[in-house]
Amino acid sequence: MNLSVIIPVYNEEDVLSILHDSLYEILRGISKTWEIVYVDDGSKDDSFGLVKRFALHDPEHVKAIALRRNFGQTAAIAAGIDYARGDILVLMDADMQNDPEDIPRLLEKIEDGYDVVSGWRVDRKDDYLKRVLPSKIANKIISWVTGVYLHDYGCTLKAYRRDVITDFRLYGEMHRFIPAYAGYVGAKITEVKVKHHTRKYGKTKYGLERTIKVILDLFTVKFLISFSQKPIYIFGGVGLFLLLLGGGILLFLMVRRLAVGISPFNSPLFFASIMIFLMGFQSLLMGLIAELLVRTYHEAQDKPTYTILEIVGNGEGAD
Ligand code: UDP
Ligand code: MG
Repeated sequence: MNLSVIIPVYNEEDVLSILHDSLYEILRGISKTWEIVYVDDGSKDDSFGLVKRFALHDPEHVKAIALRRNFGQTAAIAAGIDYARGDILVLMDADMQNDPEDIPRLLEKIEDGYDVVSGWRVDRKDDYLKRVLPSKIANKIISWVTGVYLHDYGCTLKAYRRDVITDFRLYGEMHRFIPAYAGYVGAKITEVKVKHHTRKYGKTKYGLERTIKVILDLFTVKFLISFSQKPIYIFGGVGLFLLLLGGGILLFLMVRRLAVGISPFNSPLFFASIMIFLMGFQSLLMGLIAELLVRTYHEAQDKPTYTILEIVGNGEGAD
């Protein structure tokens, strides 16, 4: 299996037949073996009934998965990735705001050797104040924080080579951070401009509140990417800084006592310095505990601390 198109579906019964037909039209024209994986995310309407029918009609090309309840778009995508068989994964929304016609253009870039091809909705057709503007700001922040510069993290339509993303567990709103994670493991990433349409069928499931979730998830992702292997660097860094600061203030108070005779014990600075010192100490200890956790994590799961691009030549490798 070369290509899996993964589609999270939540209450989209109005659009599914249109989506399915247009996907068939596009996928029939490509020179790879392909499948479509629909993940129904606990829809209350007949969405699953529809995709199930598609799957029964052409089980070789269509898989329909139903989650037990609504777990959210990210979880639905994660399920799709787990059950997809393709080496290349294309993610897209069900609502026809993304255009299946763009899929071959994403695939071309994968053929060119890229591991991640990110769709960029240059002309996004959503509410400007509630969606487009917050997302523009979020994209700038995410790019800056993760160091992977993309115009449109929020666009679901993206193509991935499977091996660069399978180790990334998805929670919350994190599917949009897959490219950042891929960048961390050394993937080659590029962007392709894609079409975007107004939502003609059904309604959007999100509002402004999602931007807040995305920003909070960004903290986790940044922490995982930058410090998950060496948490002592951040906890210890903060800890050392606080120890020095607390110690410095204490030293200043002692020198002042000797020089001008002001007792340190009446000064609020004294108590502040003791507190800062203790906080620094705590932070260092927390860093050491986090280091223990990381070791447990890597060793228990046999997770390597590197990712391999290719191995050439005969000989026993790791297994
Ligand atoms: N979706 C989902 N579970 C949810 C919410 C949304 O699977 O809890 C799906 C939805 O059916 C659609 C995609 O995720 O295929 C994107 O949702 P939507 O179009 O509402 O988001 P927007 O395009 O407005 O960002
Ligand atoms: Mg949409």
